[in-house]
Amino acid sequence: MNSKHSKLLIIALIAGLVGAFFIFDLQQYLTLDYLKSRQDAFGRFYAEHRLLTIASYMGIYILVTALSLPGAAVMTLAGGALFGLWVGFVTISFASTIGATLAFLVSRFLLRDYVQSKFGDKLRAINDGVRNEGAFYLFSLRLVPIFPFFVINLAMGLTPIRPLTFYWVSQVGMIPGTLVYVNAGTQLGQIESLSGILSPGLLISFALLGIFPLLSKKILDLVKTRKALGEFDPPESFDYNLVVIGAGSAGLVTAYIAAAVKAKVALIEKDKMGGDCLNTGCVPSKALIRSAKILSYGRRAKEYGLRQTAVDFDFAEVMERVRKVIRTVEPHDSAERYTGLGVEVITGAAKITSPYTVEVNGRRLTTRSIVVTTGARPFVPPIPGIDQVNYLTSDNLWHLRRRPERLIVLGGGSIGSEMTQAFARLGSQVTQVEMAPRILGREDEEISELVQKRFEAEGIRVLTGHTAKEVRVEDGRKVLVCEHQGQKIDLEFDDILVAVGRAANVKGFGLEELGVKITRQGTLHSDPFLRTNFPNIYCAGDVTGPYQFTHTAAHQAWYAAVNALFGTFRKFRVDYRVIPWATFVDPEVARVGLNELEAREQGIGYEVSRFELAELDRAIAEGEDHGFVKVLTKPGSDKILGVSIVGSHAGDIIAEYILAMKHGIGLNKILGTIHIYPTLAEANKAAAGEWKKAHVPEKLLQWVEKYHTWRRG
Ligand SMILES: Cc1cc2nc3c(=O)[nH]c(=O)nc-3n(C[C@H](O)[C@H](O)[C@H](O)COP(=O)(O)OP(=O)(O)OC[C@H]3O[C@@H](n4cnc5c(N)ncnc54)[C@H](O)[C@@H]3O)c2cc1C
Repeated sequence: MNSKHSKLLIIALIAGLVGAFFIFDLQQYLTLDYLKSRQDAFGRFYAEHRLLTIASYMGIYILVTALSLPGAAVMTLAGGALFGLWVGFVTISFASTIGATLAFLVSRFLLRDYVQSKFGDKLRAINDGVRNEGAFYLFSLRLVPIFPFFVINLAMGLTPIRPLTFYWVSQVGMIPGTLVYVNAGTQLGQIESLSGILSPGLLISFALLGIFPLLSKKILDLVKTRKALGEFDPPESFDYNLVVIGAGSAGLVTAYIAAAVKAKVALIEKDKMGGDCLNTGCVPSKALIRSAKILSYGRRAKEYGLRQTAVDFDFAEVMERVRKVIRTVEPHDSAERYTGLGVEVITGAAKITSPYTVEVNGRRLTTRSIVVTTGARPFVPPIPGIDQVNYLTSDNLWHLRRRPERLIVLGGGSIGSEMTQAFARLGSQVTQVEMAPRILGREDEEISELVQKRFEAEGIRVLTGHTAKEVRVEDGRKVLVCEHQGQKIDLEFDDILVAVGRAANVKGFGLEELGVKITRQGTLHSDPFLRTNFPNIYCAGDVTGPYQFTHTAAHQAWYAAVNALFGTFRKFRVDYRVIPWATFVDPEVARVGLNELEAREQGIGYEVSRFELAELDRAIAEGEDHGFVKVLTKPGSDKILGVSIVGSHAGDIIAEYILAMKHGIGLNKILGTIHIYPTLAEANKAAAGEWKKAHVPEKLLQWVEKYHTWRRG
């Protein structure tokens, strides 16, 4: 019999049994009144046939719970009344666990594949949580009966928890609840209704049950800590409260917060203070983009009524300006500044030698906690022949003083797209190669299309659906061989920039030796409190993800610092609800929350309000009348689910929506807010106006029209 037939058979069997239960009104036998009226008769039967009574009782109990029929609570009381506390407790403990496990198995067999395939994406966080801490979740749910017993059985069947784990955790977790109910059953004679169970004594029992999860969480935490740290002897005293490894965006903010709350903190950096963002990332890229943009305006002079603007430039000077910008920002992240703030800055490569010790420059630092903020580096895929050419990455790009003539940019993500347009504007002949069907694949299709069209209008060759297969050097000619729809395509180049993603820095400084867990994506595994599998080793920023932005690194840093320093009292889960970002191509692409692509993938209903920047006075005056504001709202409500903005300064003007989403402000309130005329930010209000137009109360307006007509006489 195949699985489909087995499923049908089980469904038929369950439907038959449940149907019989209701058709023959068997429910009447599972009421408190009935049981009380038959208490003496049952008692006599039990006195004569002990084992038979227990076995029959167990059979019925298992059937009721396995079929998720109402009556388990009443049966538990009856068990207490009939068998007394201890026999009742043991009998019911096993019967309820076996019944629960059967219900769990049925739910898993019949529904799990369907539910996981339909809602897999939405359930990913739950699945991961259950995989890591499923036993604990179940234990808490069993201890505190806030969810009905049968709901827990069925819901757990849909998750990846193992049946054996489900069985033993249920058995142990239900002990207190079972005892309370069985004990109440022994008093059945005095109980008039189910609510009668809640006598003051029993209420205290339940209150005790309420603190059980906290208690058990503390105990579990202690067990975990012991397990992870058991083999390492803590020093008698610690040199530092916190040692932070890596002085990029995440490390700097972590150290800053620690120093601000008067902790003794060491910040170790092996290269340049400020990490990627200052030295090889956000700052240089935005400086380069600015020069490129000025050049692009020169080329668009006619659009602005200028006959010509002869712009002459030298690539090396542009790159020197980039250097200067970095130097101007440098003091913000400097060792001097952080030393002044109370952080001990140490230059050198750190190595974690135990959860309590970090070595740097031959020194051994002891610390209560460690925060790993070692960032990420450009990922270079193993394309055969790539090592024969001095390929560029975001790390070495900034040393260039000679403009690449024919440049291939490998990668259609944010970094690849920003650099593609910047170099093209600076005069390189750029071909952008992307394996996926479109560039900026995280954004909605229309955004990828709009940006690609703009790139092509600026003379960039955008090749999507092209997979880089090999790099060949023949007679000094450098060629990238790509595959596109089964065909090989040769692309000749002078320079190639690899921008296909970033790999977390997790190796070479002691994490492997210690056994710190790494995810499948190669990032540091962390829990919602940014704790690794070592309870005193935390992490933040690109090294753990899931977002790789400066502002998310800084956001996480607060949690890492506070949890590492004060986690003994209270830990905070990282709040990832409202995460914004921008790609600084022209026109800029900015986003917060959901876009249409994600809403569809996650099966979330939405309405779209859209405002074209071609309609915005300021955008028209500036010659930047391209792009749009697109707001996704909950159907029938002004609650914002997400916003995508494409246009000049999109990364700035989206700030209003970020604030709105963070603080639950809807479109009505944005519409009711005065915006300065004429600004680009007015587009936000205009989009809210579009929403309002689509939600005018038609019926009411008809009455208002009638009123006006009447007033006119
Ligand atoms: C080209 C480019 C453009 C970008 N543009 C933007 C943007 O516009 N907006 C945005 O939000 N983000 C942008 N990013 C991403 C941003 O730069 C990163 O998200 C951010 O820098 C991450 O900060 P971090 O602290 O996690 O890591 P990093 O900044 O990488 O810092 C990690 C530090 O740890 C040090 N380190 C590593 N190992 C050790 C060790 N064993 N001992 C001591 N020190 C060590 C490293 O030297 C480094 O300084 C861009 C990135 C790139 C590459």
